[in-house]
Amino acid sequence: MTDLPDQLLSGYRNFMQGRYAAETDRYRELARGGQAPATMVVACCDSRSAPEVIFDAGPGELFVLRNVANLVPPYAPDGEFHSTSAALEFAVQSLKVKNIVVMGHGRCGGIRAALAPGSGPASPGDFIGKWMSLLAPSADAVSGNTLLTEGERQTALERISIRYSIANLRTFPYIKALEDEGQLTLSGAWFDISTGELWVMDRETGDFRRPEID
Ligand SMILES: [Zn+2]
Repeated sequence: MTDLPDQLLSGYRNFMQGRYAAETDRYRELARGGQAPATMVVACCDSRSAPEVIFDAGPGELFVLRNVANLVPPYAPDGEFHSTSAALEFAVQSLKVKNIVVMGHGRCGGIRAALAPGSGPASPGDFIGKWMSLLAPSADAVSGNTLLTEGERQTALERISIRYSIANLRTFPYIKALEDEGQLTLSGAWFDISTGELWVMDRETGDFRRPEID
């Protein structure tokens, strides 16, 4: 009997006997030398879209930030509490990551809330409505498009939000400067939970395509 859910405790037991036992040296090396991940991923909190699982990443490989609907807000040094911006600052300024990937996903509850405020599993309370209002202009434009089906509107806004977040990354002066100098790449990706398909954003056009992976 512990104060942790049983599922977590048994998962931890498996981790220690499996992955940790197999990668003990790697963990010790990371503890000694510190982390130096090359890539930061901004992903949704959704329990089905874990970047470490999707990209088969080991310890120390990915610096992951997760928030509702994988949004990057615009640069706003206003003295308020900005957890996403703090994580970006740490990843880029201190860890000096070489890539930032914004990864959205299908069936996102946050995006659904943005399209239909007041309904869905992530209906706005004290915080979600305000957070998702970042996307309000795009959400209004997409939700008014009656030529698209509900599912198409959802996918459209999921992908628009990725382009929006990447545009906002460029409002951070140090990110823009590093990208201009060729020291930092900004990428977008969208993961389809139901099929496992990963779609990658073309930097030039903003379109999403499936990469060749064999
Ligand atoms: Zn989501």
